[in-house]
Amino acid sequence: DDSVQGHGDSGNDDLDLRQDRAHSARMYDYYLGGKTNYAVDREAARQVMKVFPAIETVARVNRAYMQRAMRYLAQQGVRQFIDVGTGIPTAPNLHDVVQAVEPAARVVYADNDPIVLVYADELLAGSPQGRTSYVHADATRPKQVLDAVREEGILDLSQPVGLSLHALLHFVPDDQEPYRVVGEFVEQLPSGSYLSLTHCTGDFDPAAWNAIIDTYIQRGTPAQVRDKNAVLRFFDQLDLVDPGVVLAHQWKPEAGSGPGILTDRLVSLYAGIGRKP
Ligand code: SAH
Repeated sequence: DDSVQGHGDSGNDDLDLRQDRAHSARMYDYYLGGKTNYAVDREAARQVMKVFPAIETVARVNRAYMQRAMRYLAQQGVRQFIDVGTGIPTAPNLHDVVQAVEPAARVVYADNDPIVLVYADELLAGSPQGRTSYVHADATRPKQVLDAVREEGILDLSQPVGLSLHALLHFVPDDQEPYRVVGEFVEQLPSGSYLSLTHCTGDFDPAAWNAIIDTYIQRGTPAQVRDKNAVLRFFDQLDLVDPGVVLAHQWKPEAGSGPGILTDRLVSLYAGIGRKP
């Protein structure tokens, strides 16, 4: 059975999940060993695994970074988060991480893939003191994303926000103006806000990553890897938090965290946090 079971009372029966073509959220779910994916997604994901078997490692390192980075921001006193390009729920989700530090922390999630909307219930089961919410929105329209976030009424956008753009911007190629996109988000958030992002790179295995990007593009998902300088540019208006932009497994590593022996090539994912002055 290749059907995906969403919650029954969402009123989303007319959502088109597009089972005829691979989706990045569902391929990523497959890399992580999840079950929310279709045959067409698994075929595309296996094509990627053929040229780069470590893609599962990239996905796991990305999730492990997300947890360390968001815990760090919660420990710095950040109490509200916007997570754009949320993906299919994967425990622990961002709100689980930050509410473990501060139960009153609030999170608004956003994604433009209807599959994430179908599963959003799991993102909404936060602590009793904190609150979470989900908006269906396109990251390349920051003003609309932030308007939708405001409308949810659980964040105060005059206070610092932790903006999470994890594994999102490699799905925003240059013709969709990723630097304008990030700039508009940052511009609309108050001083003391943070941006945390991760981004795939071809710096350590250009041939494999060219083939991976081709696989996504051929199946209808625009994508682009970037080198370290291009990733650093996303932080132009921000003060980089130590240790700056590094391979994700090297960002404030914790003893015993992360799978097996990691190399820059296997990880192929830059990560960093910047603070708005
Ligand atoms: N942030 C999660 C999931 C990354 S997978 C994590 O790091 O674990 C990338 C996600 O970005 C997918 O869910 C995909 O649907 C979403 N995405 C890609 N382009 C988007 C866009 N323009 N607007 C909103 N979401 C987007």
